[in-house]
Amino acid sequence: MASDEDDYLQLSGLQHYAYCPRQWALITLEGQWAENLRTIEGQLVHERAHDENLREKRGDLLVVRGLAIRSRELGVSGQCDVVEFKRDPAGVALDGQSGLWLPTPVEYKRGQPKTHDADRLQLCCQALCLEEMLLCPTIETAYLYYAEPARREKVDLTDELRDTVRTCLRDMHRLASNGHTPKAKPTKGCNACSLRELCLPSLTRRPSASAYIAARLREEEESAQA
Ligand code: SF4
Repeated sequence: MASDEDDYLQLSGLQHYAYCPRQWALITLEGQWAENLRTIEGQLVHERAHDENLREKRGDLLVVRGLAIRSRELGVSGQCDVVEFKRDPAGVALDGQSGLWLPTPVEYKRGQPKTHDADRLQLCCQALCLEEMLLCPTIETAYLYYAEPARREKVDLTDELRDTVRTCLRDMHRLASNGHTPKAKPTKGCNACSLRELCLPSLTRRPSASAYIAARLREEEESAQA
């Protein structure tokens, strides 16, 4: 997908793309970013999760925060909020740790569980990166932690979710290499979008000036022939 690491996409962009491809392109390809309450709250939740790259060991559980991850196959790189490694004979060896370990990514999110798949896709992509980097067995489940209510949601990393991650990233690489920002397709999600004022989705419902003129000329031609 991307042979050069300079062309790797930011893994965190996957959630933006899944929410709205135009939002991702405005942020990534055009460098537009607008803070709103949701993005600021999201950053605070993440800062608490990363908490100085701590490693914490409790018996057969090793918790690693802020782990850098990447996938050559997907052409993507990023960071896991938290990876929990559980001691397991089916796991893999880790530097500086005795025994074998199986990883489970945990992603921290502001607000409540979502009805769309953006957060689940981001989490699934983290698991794909970990599987490739660690050469570990398939990670069957992972967790999203939502600030409201403060609890975890289990996510099954199905083949369908994995395929959607791959398809999204293929499309994102294609758009990135063409430098193409998709047109706005207004949805209910626009109301909560931090780029709403920059994107002006309602304007795209109106025909462009050239389309308007062409339509008027057609109308005049048709009335002249009538
Ligand atoms: S305002 Fe709507 S169309 Fe525009 S970037 Fe946001 S979600 Fe996408």
